[in-house]
Amino acid sequence: MKNPLLHIKDLPSFSDIDEAQIQPAIEEIIADNLKAIDQLLQQPEFTWENLIDPMNLIDDRLSKAWSPVRHLNSVKSNDKLRDAHNACLPLLSDYSSKISQNRALYEAIRSIVESGAFTDFNEAKQKSLHDALRSFRLGGVDLEGEEQIKFQQLQKDLSDLQSRYENNLLDATQSWQWLTDDENELEGLPDYALAMLKQSAEQKKLSGYRITLEMPSYLAVMTYADNRELRKRVYDAFCTRASDQGITDQKWDNASIMEDIVKKRREKAKILGFNSYADLSLETKMAESVDEVISFLRDLAARSRPAAQREASERQQYAESLGFVGDLEPWDYAYYSEKLKNHRFKFKEEDLKPYFSDRQVIEGLFKITGLLFDVTIEQSDETVDSWDDQVGFYLIKDAQGQIIGKFFLDLYARENKRGGAWMDECVNRYRINNHLQIPVAYLTCNLTPPIGYQPALFTHDEVITVFHEFGHGLHHMLTRIDEPDVAGINGVEWDAVELPSQFMENYCWQRDALETIARHFETGEVLPRELYNKMYDARNFESALQMLRQIEFALFDMLLFDNDEVESSAQIQQILEQVRNEISVLKTVPYNRFQNGFSHIFAGGYAAGYYSYKWAEVLSADAFSAFEEEGILNPETGQRFLSCVLQQGGSRPAMESFCCFRGRKPSIDALLRHSGIPQADALETV
Ligand code: ZN
Repeated sequence: MKNPLLHIKDLPSFSDIDEAQIQPAIEEIIADNLKAIDQLLQQPEFTWENLIDPMNLIDDRLSKAWSPVRHLNSVKSNDKLRDAHNACLPLLSDYSSKISQNRALYEAIRSIVESGAFTDFNEAKQKSLHDALRSFRLGGVDLEGEEQIKFQQLQKDLSDLQSRYENNLLDATQSWQWLTDDENELEGLPDYALAMLKQSAEQKKLSGYRITLEMPSYLAVMTYADNRELRKRVYDAFCTRASDQGITDQKWDNASIMEDIVKKRREKAKILGFNSYADLSLETKMAESVDEVISFLRDLAARSRPAAQREASERQQYAESLGFVGDLEPWDYAYYSEKLKNHRFKFKEEDLKPYFSDRQVIEGLFKITGLLFDVTIEQSDETVDSWDDQVGFYLIKDAQGQIIGKFFLDLYARENKRGGAWMDECVNRYRINNHLQIPVAYLTCNLTPPIGYQPALFTHDEVITVFHEFGHGLHHMLTRIDEPDVAGINGVEWDAVELPSQFMENYCWQRDALETIARHFETGEVLPRELYNKMYDARNFESALQMLRQIEFALFDMLLFDNDEVESSAQIQQILEQVRNEISVLKTVPYNRFQNGFSHIFAGGYAAGYYSYKWAEVLSADAFSAFEEEGILNPETGQRFLSCVLQQGGSRPAMESFCCFRGRKPSIDALLRHSGIPQADALETV
């Protein structure tokens, strides 16, 4: 029987994918690819046409086979599929390390860069080769003898340490629970939270209510539980996870693992010739230096602090007005914030939902996109093989009616579908031998599904999620770059990749845009102004406090991985405390071991990169402010954003694309304004 994964031409046929054929297909393609690379490297000299084109083709074949498997495993998982998927992961990581360690391939690409032909290449080709060489170098291909062995050992150790850190955190989190049969102890919790705690007990075959340290359970208690002792108990357990202060077993203490991670990352960076791990991390990012990031964070902090101080004291005063005596403690913050928010805005998310029906929101999204970027988006007439009846397949056409992108839209939560929302590539834009391959995206969300004959009604947050992912999708689909490594989101710096997605979110807050997005599903009435005003005012509630919290994490991350001396977990703690003293306006408790659970930077990809959240927000807010100046649906501004940013993909540095659009470098003013942080405050304090 023919294996359908081996030769995918256009779109994958999802219904033909047989779990048993997945691993053999991936093995066969990898073996073919390695053989092909060996053969390519036998050539006496190398050109774009005889090396890069064929390399791109074999990459494309692998990515077309793997993309539907990865996707199905996320949206329609079952045991067999998960096993087949997981069995392929080591094969793929082994394949990619074989390529990144292939010195002959590195030399071959370098010879193209050093050849006379290179200067005639377009910007995208040049950038894609430079990027390739850089990732070879960062993968240690340049190293010799002892150093190379050491480097490979460090890579292995680090991946092991990171997964141990994550596992400890998971085990410590899951080991703790608190049970009660007495509903009085849980006073204040809304019905949905009680139902969640009850279900959690039932799943463990227990009676009553079960509180855990999983995020939804933790947040529900911290936000709503009237019982202060209970809040403190849950807070204490949460902030000491995987530490020596832990209420749970200390065998999950991450302290020594953190020490090793910090030391080994530093060693790795030094072998590659960098001053620090932070320098290594920034090598592939838009920010140019550690100093630039640190002063960016400190500047943002200084401007946000006065507003944060005011927010904190308003919360304190409101708590006192309710009879609270003394200073609020960390386990009181979320609780009194929620009370103050309700008091001030008297506004329920539920009130908005009738205005955000699925059809209206999606139509509005397409209409706004069409106005801005001169495209039309329509459902495809052809029947396309997909993984569920609720999935739509759409075409994006340019002003001449040419199809320039396609996407699957899978909006609703469903069983066996991974949570969250994301955009993923199905097919990359790629031009070879005069054939143009049109990019295809998967846009996946987990929104409230329709019930019966009623349309699905979304919360405002859900609407924002759709716009966000669609922004990523536009980046992938509206690109005009023909080289797959730098087309769309490929080759875009990590700290700039959220620009288009966060940019699109802004439309969910604009009155003019809401005229098309938000109409009552029964009456067609536009979202009333009074409701809009409440929603808008609540947007920035305690935003300066949230801003400082993010800056605290980001600055700690940067200073830690830029430090040349840190050896012990006590020193790690010290850096965190210094940062808190400098940044935070709230107190914390001495036994708090936040760092032992900060998996973004110790186990995930955010090391010396946590600042990216704020960095990208500066870019998106500043980009949107051009629309505020010129008209939020101004097609000329839209065209400029399209041609300077969206179409360029990763074919040039993100800073160049930004400056092309804005005519200057990014400024933080728009972010502060959008966050409701008045800038006069900052001026008073400087
Ligand atoms: Zn995103």
